[in-house]
Amino acid sequence: MRAIRRFTVRPVLPPALAALGDLAGNLRWSWDPAAQDVFEYVDPTLWESTGRDPVKLLGAVGRDRLEELASDAAFLERLGAARADLERYLTGDRWCQRRQAAGEDCPKAIAYFSPEFGITAVLPQYSGGLGILAGDHLKAASDLGVPIIGVGLLYRHGYFKQALSREGWQQESYPVLDPDGLPISLLREENGERATISIAVPGGPDIEARIFVARVGRVPLLMLDTDLEHNPETYRDITDRLYGGNSEHRLRQELLLGVGGVRAIRAFCRITGHPAPEVFHTNEGHAGFLGLERIRELTVAEGGPKLDFDTALEVGRGSTVFTTHTPVPAGIDRFPRTLIEQYFGEAGPTPGVPVDRVLALGAEDYEGGDASVFNMAVMGFRLAQRANGVSQLHGHVSRGMFRGLWPAFDEAEVPITSITNGVHAPTWVAREVVALAVGQGADPEDDDTTAFWAAADKVPGAEVWATKRLLRERLVKDARKRLARSWEKRGAARAELGWIENALDPDVLTIGFARRAASYKRLTLMMRDPARLKSLLLHPERPIQLVIAGKAHPADDGGKKLIQDIVRLSDDPEIRHRIVFLPNYDIAMAQPLYPGCDVWLNNPLRPYEACGTSGMKAALNGGLNLSVLDGWWDEWYDGNNGWAIPTADGVEDVDHRDDLEADALYDLIENEVAPRFYDLDAEGVPARWIEMTRHTLKSLGPKVLATRMVRDYVRQLYTPAALTARALNSDYAGAAELAAWKKKVRTGWSGVRVEHVESSGVSDAPEVGDQMSVCAFVALGDLSPADVDVQLIHGRSNGEDELSDTTVESLRVAETYEGGRHRFDGDLVLDHSGAFGYTVRVIPRNDLLASPAELGVVALP
Ligand SMILES: *Cc1c(COP(=O)(O)O)cnc(C)c1O
Repeated sequence: MRAIRRFTVRPVLPPALAALGDLAGNLRWSWDPAAQDVFEYVDPTLWESTGRDPVKLLGAVGRDRLEELASDAAFLERLGAARADLERYLTGDRWCQRRQAAGEDCPKAIAYFSPEFGITAVLPQYSGGLGILAGDHLKAASDLGVPIIGVGLLYRHGYFKQALSREGWQQESYPVLDPDGLPISLLREENGERATISIAVPGGPDIEARIFVARVGRVPLLMLDTDLEHNPETYRDITDRLYGGNSEHRLRQELLLGVGGVRAIRAFCRITGHPAPEVFHTNEGHAGFLGLERIRELTVAEGGPKLDFDTALEVGRGSTVFTTHTPVPAGIDRFPRTLIEQYFGEAGPTPGVPVDRVLALGAEDYEGGDASVFNMAVMGFRLAQRANGVSQLHGHVSRGMFRGLWPAFDEAEVPITSITNGVHAPTWVAREVVALAVGQGADPEDDDTTAFWAAADKVPGAEVWATKRLLRERLVKDARKRLARSWEKRGAARAELGWIENALDPDVLTIGFARRAASYKRLTLMMRDPARLKSLLLHPERPIQLVIAGKAHPADDGGKKLIQDIVRLSDDPEIRHRIVFLPNYDIAMAQPLYPGCDVWLNNPLRPYEACGTSGMKAALNGGLNLSVLDGWWDEWYDGNNGWAIPTADGVEDVDHRDDLEADALYDLIENEVAPRFYDLDAEGVPARWIEMTRHTLKSLGPKVLATRMVRDYVRQLYTPAALTARALNSDYAGAAELAAWKKKVRTGWSGVRVEHVESSGVSDAPEVGDQMSVCAFVALGDLSPADVDVQLIHGRSNGEDELSDTTVESLRVAETYEGGRHRFDGDLVLDHSGAFGYTVRVIPRNDLLASPAELGVVALP
């Protein structure tokens, strides 16, 4: 029978236990072991059976037990301490406040938009890496006191749960999430009514959405939800699930996230008095429509400043940061241009913003572009003055991928920088690993310092080894439980499952591999040569065991086939105790998985892994990475913190390339990894292995952290963006000037020419140390010398006259002639021997530009 109405009765806690409700109401418990221990104490069995979910736990625990706890002095003391610690965490000065006290700038607030957020297993609003990263970003911002507001959607089903059929085929299910049972609360107006936002849609009623707020430590996360009684069914389904449905469905989700997200922030700030964001950060292109809503606010909205479009564009751009996350062209978010045309008319979500300007922002109007599509990444770059990739290598790949937007510039000058991703240590590091450092006197409050991770050096090898065994054993137990559950679902009788009690071995070298079954990740590379794999698994002295997990997108049969191949292999009775596939990779599985692995395997097709973060989580738990030099590993592999799988870059034949790389992988495991792991000294400790573990913790520990990442964002992107925003926003005169100046430069640029360059002072046989003078005769047309930077670029020259290792120096204006012509002078010293070359170029100059390539124009001789 179906209920006509459903609601969840919230528990009433005895007054003495009110603090339990406070702890459950802020997701900080998910990275605070003391709070977790408090919940576990309430009822250890329920704690496990609810999947460590405080809201469900408090809903399920009996009144008798609550009354018992209310008079349990020892419990009340622990509860009080955890509550006091939360208060201290929420209100004390942290990195950002200390920075401000020291006179450094920091934005007053930053809005961070993402289509998914992976914060805890009990709020399953993520599908994979992008969401986990967004969750870690919010948590680290909270730890640092950085005033971020997260903005996302609340999906009724979240992402799917994965199970297996008897044949090993992925089965998806979409359990309904009841918002009343989630650790979120409804945003309400002061009069108690729920706050809503609405979005106009051509030819239909407005879409209305309510706003839930999750408390992520100090950070509020706003989640929009269209599942409202009076929305038509099609609208109620906008937030039905993550990454499902056709283009139009996705467009509606993205309108809600971008346009609705800005409106939700306005409502939140109005109601709570929170400062308005100075900076808007869009995590991937999906939230890009936020820029259009901000233009609407600035151009036509009631009570707004009524700027012209170009001025508003400058204000929006100056305060927006765009992060691109994928080097896989198919991963770029694109819509049919006609769909955008249909939605963004006068009756659309951003009335008054001209549809032709909207279309132009997402147009692939460059060489190789497709005129029929609207590209969200391209719009992202055009609506954000500052943009980045997520590792150094990915920054490089992105500059190549998007250089069509700045065709006059060399790849190195394409204005896409990089900030390498990081992971939130308190979420991902097993407490036993933290305890190793604390045991050597390290301060757990300082877990993101070099000193904290350097303590690894002092921990005795036997202690490290014993801890790793404990963690491996925990993983083995968890894996056996999951295997048994999976086999029961696959239709096996209990009697058939005796072997599971001996599946995996807490003393065998454990290699983990968990990731989405996207084809570039090559889930099945390890089984390229099944006989060779088998011999590694069953090696008489030095066996390995593999723990594998990963979901395929529900529409991706190719990915499901890969999973099936792995599952079938792992079903083989001869090896099933040494290779397991665990269904439903999620945060709950990941948390014991990373610490329990000795080696973390990653073998993507280089360079398609933008960054990758799972290997970072393994490293923070003392695991060694065995990975292709892609993403973050390309940057931080140092020869001693793990192994690099050699890649056959440039081998065109994909099969052959896979063969070569799989062979290299087997060789490494057989000749390097396993021998080192099993090389025990007199105390039974693999000393050379422990050396690498220590080195990993010490060298990677401080780098791979989300707090390092968020600090980088604050220093390199958020604060500069906030400063630009202030310069443009004060009375908008700066923005109007900038817009007018850009127009002048763009129209006047055809008159800019380098007419003639002379050099003097160098003899026929130049030597290091010689000084050379250069003067350039430049025509500027209607522009003045103040509008431009005339640069002398010099460096090594190769046979083709290409310059490398270049240095750029600005020439100064020396003389002005009639007709807009000028002479610019400068000197340089020949500072190295060998082939030398130089050139001169003219680029626009304005203090409010973030990059010389911003206008895309340059004049060369
Ligand atoms: C860390 C994590 C990911 C992302 O890992 P990648 O290395 O980026 O593939 C995906 N899912 C879960 C559950 C994670 O914890």
